[in-house]
Amino acid sequence: MVAILEDALSEKVLAGERISAAEALELYGRPLEALGALANARRDLAKAASYGERGREIVTYIVDRNINYTNVCNVYCKFCAFYRTEKDEDHYVLSRDQLDEKLDELSAAGGVQILMQGGHHPTLSFDWYLDWLRHIREKYPHINIHGFSPPELQHFAHLFGMPLRDVISQFKAAGLGSIPGGGGEILVDRVRERISPLKCNSDAWLEVMQVAHELGLKSSATMMFGHVETIGDRIEHLQRLRDQQDKSGGFTAFICWTFQPQHTVLKVTRPTGVAEYLRTQALARIFLDNFPNVQSSWVTQGPDIGQVALKYGANDFGSVMMEENVVSSAGTIFRLDAAQIETLIRDAGYEPRRRNNWYELLN
Ligand code: SF4
Repeated sequence: MVAILEDALSEKVLAGERISAAEALELYGRPLEALGALANARRDLAKAASYGERGREIVTYIVDRNINYTNVCNVYCKFCAFYRTEKDEDHYVLSRDQLDEKLDELSAAGGVQILMQGGHHPTLSFDWYLDWLRHIREKYPHINIHGFSPPELQHFAHLFGMPLRDVISQFKAAGLGSIPGGGGEILVDRVRERISPLKCNSDAWLEVMQVAHELGLKSSATMMFGHVETIGDRIEHLQRLRDQQDKSGGFTAFICWTFQPQHTVLKVTRPTGVAEYLRTQALARIFLDNFPNVQSSWVTQGPDIGQVALKYGANDFGSVMMEENVVSSAGTIFRLDAAQIETLIRDAGYEPRRRNNWYELLN
């Protein structure tokens, strides 16, 4: 049991009160174990609010699958090892048969969701996307389509010459069920201009979330850190997410991970270590007082650190993720099945429970 420092800021955190950006910076400098204990206390408060007192003992996970429908992309983010141009021999757009094969496998494994994202393809049509959504919705009604990151949706609005709201509402009518928080990286334009100058800016990313939430679609929020940003930039990112959640209220969860540098053109002077990952996640749990869930990121950090992260503010182990292409393109490959995830959760002292995208317990 880690002793929690007795001071006014710790008392404030333990009481579940909102902290300022200046207080976040102060917390970030505290001993890791002390910060983790505060985040853990806030995690318990949040989960008791979601699931009752037993919520403190529950760690959730979801059985889903990544579907990266194309790797063709003309955005060329410096941290990305996944994209290809149409001139590259290994570029692809999945066929309908390949899609069905993946969905059949997911259904057989008891999966309930696909995370469907792709590059910013320059020529796929609006009808191509609508056909895919309708097809999945009709043939696999038990699978939620968690699809299209905010930069993709802004790309579609631009490519199709349509208002963003019309794109999202027509996608929703065709079967889109929720929106992933991909492409958030760091919501500070000075940083975005350095790592992904052709990707949508912070305001445009948040605009998608505003519109999606207004249309009744829930979404997640992400942060990729450990590249060119400062600690202050990370806190500004969290501030923008918290402000957005105050306005539109549709974020279900926050997930953060460290930049994976292999096979990318973005060079960093020093790698981000485990302590910094845990410290950042713990701070996010405390700062994002209006986010009910925080996922640990075993896909990027590995199963062991993903497990430790459950003591640093996370209440969810993410997904079984039967297929993952983006992080693995950058050289990070971890695989876990549902039984392994449940063992990791139990060994950390929690009760594993499957969930759906809306964090409703399934078993
Ligand atoms: S991160 Fe996404 S938008 Fe950026 S280059 Fe890779 S596939 Fe394209």
